[in-house]
Amino acid sequence: MTEDGAAKAIKKSAGLYIHVPFCLCKCQYCDFNSDTNLSLIPVYINALFREMRLLADVPLCFDTIYLGGGTPSVLKPTQIRRIFTAIYTIFRIDPNPEVTIEVNPKTADFKAFEMYRSAGINRINFGVQSFKNENLKFLGRIHSWEDAVYGIAQAQRAGFENIGLDLIYGLPGQTRNAWMDDLKRAVDHRPAHLSCYMLTYEPGTPLDEKRRKGIITPMPDEEAAELFDLTIAFLEDQGYDQYEISNYACSPETRSRHNLKYWNFMPYLGLGPGAHSYLHPFRSWNYLNLSDYVERLSKWQVPSEGKEKPDPEQRMIEAIYLGLRKREGIDIPQFEGIFDLDFRKIFGKTLKELENEGMVRTGRGRCRLTRYGMRFLDSVASRLCAAF
Ligand code: SF4
Repeated sequence: MTEDGAAKAIKKSAGLYIHVPFCLCKCQYCDFNSDTNLSLIPVYINALFREMRLLADVPLCFDTIYLGGGTPSVLKPTQIRRIFTAIYTIFRIDPNPEVTIEVNPKTADFKAFEMYRSAGINRINFGVQSFKNENLKFLGRIHSWEDAVYGIAQAQRAGFENIGLDLIYGLPGQTRNAWMDDLKRAVDHRPAHLSCYMLTYEPGTPLDEKRRKGIITPMPDEEAAELFDLTIAFLEDQGYDQYEISNYACSPETRSRHNLKYWNFMPYLGLGPGAHSYLHPFRSWNYLNLSDYVERLSKWQVPSEGKEKPDPEQRMIEAIYLGLRKREGIDIPQFEGIFDLDFRKIFGKTLKELENEGMVRTGRGRCRLTRYGMRFLDSVASRLCAAF
């Protein structure tokens, strides 16, 4: 291949995800891949550097970088800077990338934010979850609402404008007023982005254990759906656009460019234990366990545990689920082009039923959930999937 041909083969607009599998302690509801043994951080970083070097030739140019976890901010700022130096040295990076770090408000101060900026990070995503200490205690978070307010102020003082806040709602017994208060307090900080997630009870978590033992009773679906509707109405009134089922941005520019890649089937490379990658037509995933990950890399082997080429049916199911998550819905001409089918012919009967039930709306080349239908994403998607 000529040099020109090789350059053309490089896929632009790819995402780079780095999984930092450490947390100060485990939250009650969490089933993410993270370890509380921070003494393993240096070993992890050395392994990560090896993984980067092994994948240096990946034919991707990244315009988003996302340091997620876990709690990436448990790493020392100098360690984070070293990671970014390696990223910029080893990979092709777009001149105008979106570079995000997830931060637990307890773990970063002004100096850390300054160093993040000097490392090229331009977006902070705070795991706030609630502005009420009783909720934070219930969730097992290590920080208080005061820590969150202080952290946001320090990030702003260090010059960060693109700040996102994560919130959780649907806690047992949470009232409409209590959730509205959390939302108002979040919006008071004028974040560029908000993610509002419904509390889920993941198998194997302490929270789910309490649910099974009857110690706590989850919020009934109808009440949770009311909070969901309330969230959309309030945030839209405040100028936030719900561009994905749980995500809101104050302008199109502050939508998470990185997360949009997952929902739009763009290529991404995931590094770190348990990280997933997608380079069409293949999906692959790393060893989940930190010691397996480190062991493979100690032998200079790529720490990939599996790789698959999803068949058209799997891809179609995924396209339906991911498309419906977005406010703009499924792009019908694009879907027809990818899967070589007539959308109306295949889904017409089911779509008619869903439209009559007020769940789905089609028009202008899009198939999207109504606000009411958003409450039933899984059931709508599975009914559409059953149609082919
Ligand atoms: S901080 Fe995040 S990743 Fe860590 S235990 Fe809590 S929810 Fe899980």
